[in-house]
Amino acid sequence: MKYYSTNNPNHKVSLKEAVLKGLAPDNGLYMPEAIPVLPQAFFDTLHTKSFQEIALEVAHAFLKDDVPTAELKRIIEHTISFDAPLVEFAKNVFALELFHGPTLAFKDFGARFMSQLLGYFAKEEKREIVILVATSGDTGSAVANGFLGVPGTKVVVLYPSGKVSDIQEKQFTTLGQNITALEVDGSFDDCQRLVKEAFLDEELKTKFFLTSANSINIARLIPQSFYYFYAWSRLKEKNKVVFSVPSGNFGNLTAGLIAKRMGLPIRHFIASTNINDIVPEYLQTNKFNPRPSKVTVSNAMDVGNPSNFARMLDLYQNDFEKLKADVSGFDFSDEETQTAMRDVFTNNKYVLDPHGAVGYLGLKKYLEVNINSTGVFLETAHPAKFLEVVEEAVNISIDLPDRLKIFIKNKKQTILLDKSFTSFKAMLQKSLTN
Ligand SMILES: *Cc1c(COP(=O)(O)O)cnc(C)c1O
Repeated sequence: MKYYSTNNPNHKVSLKEAVLKGLAPDNGLYMPEAIPVLPQAFFDTLHTKSFQEIALEVAHAFLKDDVPTAELKRIIEHTISFDAPLVEFAKNVFALELFHGPTLAFKDFGARFMSQLLGYFAKEEKREIVILVATSGDTGSAVANGFLGVPGTKVVVLYPSGKVSDIQEKQFTTLGQNITALEVDGSFDDCQRLVKEAFLDEELKTKFFLTSANSINIARLIPQSFYYFYAWSRLKEKNKVVFSVPSGNFGNLTAGLIAKRMGLPIRHFIASTNINDIVPEYLQTNKFNPRPSKVTVSNAMDVGNPSNFARMLDLYQNDFEKLKADVSGFDFSDEETQTAMRDVFTNNKYVLDPHGAVGYLGLKKYLEVNINSTGVFLETAHPAKFLEVVEEAVNISIDLPDRLKIFIKNKKQTILLDKSFTSFKAMLQKSLTN
């Protein structure tokens, strides 16, 4: 299967090139040239299969020509080494818990799959592969931990200074080995811009084998479709399922749209955001107006220019009405988010993290009008990752899982940087050549 750039459908590359390049040379995002549609028999028997078996069949449909089945099986077994349980806490309202991986956030799925796939491709490369990743929190930890110790790779994480939680920061600044953390005096959008500029810089491209691990990488997107199939397979009522996806860069939601295109009968999607409401606004007005991000309590979704929006448009051939028929958008303030966390804890004895709370709110709003639906919202992180916000909202103390305690004990090591590309480039050359 070939992959084309959203900026030019005639520019097609192999899977390997799409994964190693991350971003197309024309700044577009890679998309599979055809989205495989799975046969009815697959859906009829889905409930009898394990999460790993489901994931392998979905991955195989995309990658069968590019990765040997035995290798794909190994990659899947490594990626899906933890469950994604559905928790019903009101009639027809389910949380899909995606935080049971090593860094307690859904980004573990994409990062683990991608690091394994890159490791497979890296064997053929002579140069070291450098993974540049801009993070607003969770991507950095998932990617850094996914690649930690993978031979032939180096990871450089850029993050906005003071704008990620202490626990998040510890998960990618304490690792050492092949992981370097750059603390940028700027916003997440600045970090994302620096990464994009590096990919366009001829000198850097000649010197290093650069690749990206942000949600723009197609190897992050494909595995994020697995859990839509799995969750659907475990629901009793399968013909009226809607998913609410707490969104920032819209990778998670795009993966859901891809699952639907593969034949999974999802009735509707809800794009739930914090006040960075660029996509909900688009769905109301047909105007896409990216702007600087604002800081919120759900900081992994503080994105002012959602990168996967280009893929969403591409999937619907820029047809606004068609996209709108499949996706509704709602945005929520911090106050609404905190109230939801408090109410859900009081009424359902369930502790939401601030991102899941936004997903929950979007679902609730949708269900007010569309009563006859089975609603699933994605719970994208463990509440302990956002301790201060959660404890303030629900007024109880949260126990840290052991996996988090280990990170907190270790010492932070970062390189401070202003937000100019010149400084970033100089730093990159210095830290990668020694
Ligand atoms: C990254 C992240 C999101 C947003 O996911 P996108 O795919 O960027 O839309 C939501 N919640 C958490 C906890 C995240 O880390």
